[in-house]
Amino acid sequence: MLNVAVVYGGQSGEHEVSIQSAKYVLKLLKNGKYNPIPVAIDKQGRWFGDVTPKEFEQNGNGGTPLLFNLTDKTLIKIEDGKQISLDIDVLFPVLHGPYGEDGSIQGMLDMLDIPYVGSEVLGSAVAMDKAVSKNILENKGFPVAPYTTFKAHTWKKNQQTIIEECEKLGYPLFVKPANLGSSVGITKAKDRNQLIESIKFALLYDHKIVVEKGLIAKEIEISIIGNEEPIASTTGEIIPTGEFYDYEAKYIDKSSTTIPANVDEKVTNQAQRLAKEAFLALDLKGISRVDFFYEEKTDKLWINEINTMPGFTPISMYPKLLIASGFTEDKLADTLVELALERHKNKK
Ligand code: ATP
Ligand code: MG
Ligand code: MG
Ligand code: MG
Repeated sequence: MLNVAVVYGGQSGEHEVSIQSAKYVLKLLKNGKYNPIPVAIDKQGRWFGDVTPKEFEQNGNGGTPLLFNLTDKTLIKIEDGKQISLDIDVLFPVLHGPYGEDGSIQGMLDMLDIPYVGSEVLGSAVAMDKAVSKNILENKGFPVAPYTTFKAHTWKKNQQTIIEECEKLGYPLFVKPANLGSSVGITKAKDRNQLIESIKFALLYDHKIVVEKGLIAKEIEISIIGNEEPIASTTGEIIPTGEFYDYEAKYIDKSSTTIPANVDEKVTNQAQRLAKEAFLALDLKGISRVDFFYEEKTDKLWINEINTMPGFTPISMYPKLLIASGFTEDKLADTLVELALERHKNKK
């Protein structure tokens, strides 16, 4: 039986979402073929073994301290003062946002030579940064919403120029921290005062900001599974409870979703093709969810962003879309583990 470490929690603003995702990933891996090992990371970045997401959620810490032994390239558990080596065949970093989805943990795992689920350092880092990923996608001819980007340093020195640059896009504007997820730090600005407030708010989360033209569009998502020959799922559509799909609409009010999305077959095919092409263009691996906007008025499809470790709760789009496309929970677990091993083997 393969030992699969499921790493969850983490230091990002999506710590709580990750705990919920891990509960479901552990359930998927309990199909008799794997020995799933839950590994928690607390908000300070400390690693713990022997603690389930449910226990961790209640206590915020707990379990046995874990250490990396860089000489033997193993994960060590400290129990009653004794060091016990954990044999890990595959690691599933069910971590969202900075340190989990941005190439940090991927780089550490590469150095330890531990196979893991999902994208490698480069793809993770590029997809996490909305400014960098939009720039690359735009240059490769993918449709992305008009945007501008700047850093905290420039904002401090030259607010007026930045405001004018943003206003050229036309209100409403979406103001986002460049590196985050779950809509944390994102607000919609309808006038100059709101724009300034939104920028100050986003700067609490990141030193780099992306401001986008707000589109009046349907929100469509596609799950991707695969390495060099990715498979695209059917489409899903999000109907947010609030003004947009913000954190509350995602996890508290639980916006409704429709699978498949209520769009023409032509739009579905185009979205599936773009999702696969964008996944390959950013050099992604294993798993991703590609988010789109479909503007009915102009019949135009835009890529919003790509999440390399999308939400993985039972109500999350990522698993739901694949299950709607014919994957059983069992096959989903097997495929993700196989892809991780294949990616690791091909890297050498
Ligand atoms: P996640 O990783 O959880 O999908 P995120 O934090 O990376 O989210 P985005 O997907 O970029 O953030 O944006 C969050 C939501 O904000 C979108 O789902 C959509 O509802 C709204 N939104 C973002 N950008 C735009 C835009 N340009 N026009 C209209 N709505 C937008
Ligand atoms: Mg995202
Ligand atoms: Mg995300
Ligand atoms: Mg999104």
